[in-house]
Amino acid sequence: MIELNNVSKWYNDYQVLKDCTLTVERGEIVVICGPSGSGKSTLIKTVNALEPFQEGSIRVHGMEVGAPDTDLPALRARVGMVFQSFELFPHMTILQNVMIGQRVVLSRSSSDAEAQARRLLDRVGMADHAHKYPAQLSGGQQQRVAIARALAMDPMAILFDEPTSALDPEMVSEVLDVMTSLAKEGMTMMVVTHEMGFARRVATRMVFIDRGEIIENCPTEEFFGGTRNPRTEAFLGKIL
Ligand code: ADP
Ligand code: MG
Repeated sequence: MIELNNVSKWYNDYQVLKDCTLTVERGEIVVICGPSGSGKSTLIKTVNALEPFQEGSIRVHGMEVGAPDTDLPALRARVGMVFQSFELFPHMTILQNVMIGQRVVLSRSSSDAEAQARRLLDRVGMADHAHKYPAQLSGGQQQRVAIARALAMDPMAILFDEPTSALDPEMVSEVLDVMTSLAKEGMTMMVVTHEMGFARRVATRMVFIDRGEIIENCPTEEFFGGTRNPRTEAFLGKIL
């Protein structure tokens, strides 16, 4: 589904990704963790071409991400993204936020887009808030809307970049619960998070990245049960 081969990226002369190779199969939940500044956000942004890369290759469902003729709107519709800071459109209602991509990118009719939006808002427990504006919602509610908005495009996979780290503690579980149910239904997911309880329950594979390098990439049981690289160990010692 998603395949990164020897991807390297520089910001000017600073190398932020070093020879990263990673495969995500259909239905897999890959959790990516690592210190602040290690390149986690950059790595997942390269997957839906929000960030260019200079070396290596990335394929998403058969599409070559770096190729000049890649249809970027089509790619981004197939690979949803959920950010730490929600990124809802503040001047649009919740319903409009979940409809806009379907209308503009997928050219869906207004009635089809609305039906899909209402179905997904119901699914994330936000149906009663469809008429409100983002500022009227809590962070946890906004993030659930952001997930509904990503789902509205019928994506092949969703990328999450620290989806709960901007939330007050009591709102973390409402977002993780939605993500867990998506995972159970077979959605392919790459999730940058430090929520190790979630990772242990839901992830199929764990990736640890440090200074732009993939240090660990192994099945979840092995990550939490086996012997780990000392750099992984030192990091987990700080967050667990
Ligand atoms: P993480 O998500 O793991 O905290 P990032 O991928 O955001 O890490 O950043 C990795 C490194 O790249 C950091 O050192 C950061 O300062 C740097 N960086 C991120 N974005 C840019 C940018 N647009 N220009 C220059 N350096 C950047
Ligand atoms: Mg980040």
